[in-house]
Amino acid sequence: MADKPFRSGFISIVGRPNVGKSTLLNRILGEKIVITSDKPQTTRNRIQGIHNVPEGQLVFIDTPGIHRARSRLNRHMVEAALASIKEVDVVFLLVEADTNPAGEEGLITETLAGVGIPVFLVINKIDLVEKERLLARIAAYASLFPFREIVPVSALTGDGVERLVELASGCLPEGPAYFPDDIISDLPERFIVAEIVREKIFRLTRDEIPYSVAVTVDSFKERPDGLIAIAASIVVERDSQKGIVIGHRGAMLKRIGSDARHEIEGLLDARVFLELFVKVRRDWSENPRILKELGYE
Ligand code: GDP
Ligand code: MG
Repeated sequence: MADKPFRSGFISIVGRPNVGKSTLLNRILGEKIVITSDKPQTTRNRIQGIHNVPEGQLVFIDTPGIHRARSRLNRHMVEAALASIKEVDVVFLLVEADTNPAGEEGLITETLAGVGIPVFLVINKIDLVEKERLLARIAAYASLFPFREIVPVSALTGDGVERLVELASGCLPEGPAYFPDDIISDLPERFIVAEIVREKIFRLTRDEIPYSVAVTVDSFKERPDGLIAIAASIVVERDSQKGIVIGHRGAMLKRIGSDARHEIEGLLDARVFLELFVKVRRDWSENPRILKELGYE
């Protein structure tokens, strides 16, 4: 019996904000390196993780949410997401089991019509719905587009995820691995650190801070004793936002810093000294020059 060929390729996970893209990726990778948040749009279009199986290598790109674009930043992200999905080997279009197809899915299937890339419809959060409703949903989506596979999963419980990975790796082109098998992400540590700080801000400030927060890592130094010293800036658009991030007598900033530091220490497996600064740059999310400077390019 001949060995199965080795396959490797790129997979883009696309879908509306909050459908569970980051959760699914974390579930597949088995390690918390992708940032999940109960707020949308905390991920950018980058290689987020690499999953190795005996017969292949799956390289995942976690794109920003596709949604109706309002601000310049949003439009930029939607364009980036739409462009990125044409350059991969397989697309996972992730939807929720308890919502109907909407404009966002139409935009994605329109973009992919005739491109020839296999598209998997991944129906997530099946832990939340009755089987009958799920079947009706599958039928509604199946009429939208000739999906290669329709795979119901729960990223939260892991139900169906193994089968999804098997089906996807079988669709990748034959060829050697793109990356050595001992790394699971090519994201620079600085980027991961910035995303962790950003996630803590979203979680801790709840609805008080809109999405107009950026985090930049200004320095990242490993000392001879192994301690990693990191300085990062939190960039907001208004003085009132700066006040919220700092909090009463600095309490909020302290909590953001200590929560972020714990997570970064776990991830880097080192002691970390984290210094945070809060800066106001008026209307940065509408300013092309500042956007570029902050890495949205
Ligand atoms: P993203 O914006 O698409 O990356 O979505 P996230 O991965 O950040 O998930 C958004 C929310 O949905 C989080 O609160 C997750 O815990 C939740 N979630 C993700 N997958 C599932 C699932 O399979 N079942 C349930 N019940 N919740 C889920
Ligand atoms: Mg996400």
